[in-house]
Amino acid sequence: MMPRHHIIVGAGLAGALLALLLARRGHRVDVFERRSDQRIRGYEGGRSINLALARRGLGVLEAAGLGAAVLQCAVAMRGRQVHPLDAPEVFLPYAHTASECIWSVHRGRLNHLLLDAAEAAGARVHFQQRLGLVDFPARRAEIINDGDRRVRWIDFDALLGGDGAGSALRNAMQGHADLHPEIAPLDHGYKELEIPPSAEGGFRIDGGALHIWPRGGFMLIALPNTERTFTATLFLPHKGSTQSFDVLETTEHARAFFEAIFPDALALMPRFAEDWASHPTSSLATLRLHHWHLDRRAVLFGDAAHAMLPFHGQGMNCAFEDAEALDRLMADTPDLADAFAAFEAERRPNAEAIQTMAVENYLEMRDAVDDSHWRLQRALELELAARHPERFVPRYAMVSFTRTPYAEAFARGCWQRALLVDATRGITDLAQIDLAALDARIHAGLEPLPAMWREFSV
Ligand SMILES: Cc1cc2nc3c(=O)[nH]c(=O)nc-3n(C[C@H](O)[C@H](O)[C@H](O)COP(=O)(O)OP(=O)(O)OC[C@H]3O[C@@H](n4cnc5c(N)ncnc54)[C@H](O)[C@@H]3O)c2cc1C
Repeated sequence: MMPRHHIIVGAGLAGALLALLLARRGHRVDVFERRSDQRIRGYEGGRSINLALARRGLGVLEAAGLGAAVLQCAVAMRGRQVHPLDAPEVFLPYAHTASECIWSVHRGRLNHLLLDAAEAAGARVHFQQRLGLVDFPARRAEIINDGDRRVRWIDFDALLGGDGAGSALRNAMQGHADLHPEIAPLDHGYKELEIPPSAEGGFRIDGGALHIWPRGGFMLIALPNTERTFTATLFLPHKGSTQSFDVLETTEHARAFFEAIFPDALALMPRFAEDWASHPTSSLATLRLHHWHLDRRAVLFGDAAHAMLPFHGQGMNCAFEDAEALDRLMADTPDLADAFAAFEAERRPNAEAIQTMAVENYLEMRDAVDDSHWRLQRALELELAARHPERFVPRYAMVSFTRTPYAEAFARGCWQRALLVDATRGITDLAQIDLAALDARIHAGLEPLPAMWREFSV
């Protein structure tokens, strides 16, 4: 394969990884990134400080040679610690085996690792240089230097767009082809708060769990960091006359709300008032497009193509799979238009499936995890998973602990959910269930999950 010159827009998580993969193949790679170099100026992303890395995302990073380095700055989370308002806390393990966990990683540190690796492989990253307009017929792109305000036009063969949910490349493509964007904003926003280490320097609550305070229409979650802190995120409706960001106008209102609704969490946050006042309230949305590429001239990947709600912790994982697939298909398919079309055909159904599952997971996390019937279904799910480890893999596990394509996980999950609902109808105890009959249904209805999707090396 002839070396090519590739231009990537955005050096976020997906853009930096794609730069690394393409540079490793011997291509010339230039990346234009709107922000300044975080490695010099400190992280200024303004978005979630830590992210849940799942098996599939780690698998891509391992293949890129970064697995060990990433795990060094990650904390393993082996289950959900649920904090009901008026009942004792309960720990719900994700699975029976210790290898099945997700990892909490620092967004900034992970981005640094990827940028260092991309540059070491030969990619050139141009910071504070953002994409402006694009002249697709002439194949020229406007690059605006936000440092010195200079504007220049560069020639390109193809633009690879990893410039995130507000993608400038996507906007430019929309002028030449109807990408058919559908944006579904969530009526809930989020705000981040910090739980510092204890006076002794340890975690204040279990550092091996993802903590959830489900409260019906809204929730608080907290993910651990290697510094023994937690980043807590409150997801709450933007508007509403009672429990919404709108009515929490002052820090005093917010404190009173926490005292009533999240008293145990508030007790862990000595800097609550400062965090509340200084941290922004941000919005969330799902973005779907009918087309991800403009013939051979441009393609979108990561959040630029399919921003999703964060409630399955999969946006970054999906974006890493995108980068891996785009690199592979560009290497295997001589014509870029064919490569981009194959990329869209492979990845779009999967992105749409995880977008749907992210919405469903939100409802489950905020409403269901402290519901006794939901827990009965979950107990049955784990029982069936133990009886049929190769066939009946819970949907959360397929998404988080295997590399099962999202669309396949979604389809199998629908089948399994129907069986669980059916089997627990009118039932209060697992002992009342005819497990042998369920065994037969599972053998008839579910093929074993292919081994290549289930392999673990951690
Ligand atoms: C609250 C929250 C929690 C989340 N939690 C998780 C989680 O637990 N697990 C998970 O897998 N995912 C999670 N996600 C999703 C994850 O953050 C994204 O899916 C991921 O960052 C996508 O990577 P990306 O590279 O496509 O986009 P981004 O990370 O947004 O990177 C885009 C880059 O493009 C740059 N850029 C933008 N415009 C231009 C321009 N015009 N020119 C040049 N550069 C430009 C930006 O500065 C940025 O560096 C979460 C998201 C949110 C909001």
